[in-house]
Amino acid sequence: PHDALAIVAVACRADPGTEPRSRAAALPDDAFEHDGQLTKQEVRAVTLAALRPLPGALLWDVGAGSGSVGIEWLRTHPSCRAVAIEPRDDRRERVLRNAERLGVPGLEVVAGAAPSALAGLPTPDAVFVGGGVSGAGVLPACVAALRPGGRLVANGVTVETETVLADTYARHGGTLTRLHVERASPVGGFTGWRPAMPVTQWSWTK
Ligand code: SAH
Repeated sequence: PHDALAIVAVACRADPGTEPRSRAAALPDDAFEHDGQLTKQEVRAVTLAALRPLPGALLWDVGAGSGSVGIEWLRTHPSCRAVAIEPRDDRRERVLRNAERLGVPGLEVVAGAAPSALAGLPTPDAVFVGGGVSGAGVLPACVAALRPGGRLVANGVTVETETVLADTYARHGGTLTRLHVERASPVGGFTGWRPAMPVTQWSWTK
């Protein structure tokens, strides 16, 4: 048994000089090229779990940013599929670079903003809304498009998005959660807690 363990460890470290990357969510933030628009690791782990990736399932990653959620969805199983929807050219290019670098070049990237950019896309098994939550008609379009039994998770950090998420929770039920994360970092030779903006998350099964 000890030899077998050693072989597994060597296989995981096949790429010299890099840390092995687990397939369990979530990767560290620095695994992704990003411009600050990134769902941070702790929140990403909760988000992925709430989306419930299953083999063969299709995710819409609405407001893909750096693509982290769609990429991690694809990394859970080779048969998973994902479409990243992002209006900004520079961010779509970054999504493609991240997907390539993290071994999931099959991530499909769609240009445009929700809800209009969602028209005609194949029916999703799960939808993540990481951007555009407060945009007119965005959440209703995602709710309508989702396959019955599918999962919808929407995250927001502003008062405006929180209002929309609370309204949607009142109308549809599901779970409304607020996630506060603090990371320790140096403060004048000591160590202090730096809070990230709290993230409000609505998750729901259709
Ligand atoms: N979850 C992402 C970060 C999302 S940042 C990650 O981990 O990388 C929010 C993104 O939503 C931004 O890139 C912004 O351009 C995009 N966005 C804003 N409004 C949108 C809309 N209506 N439709 C699609 N994307 C939108």
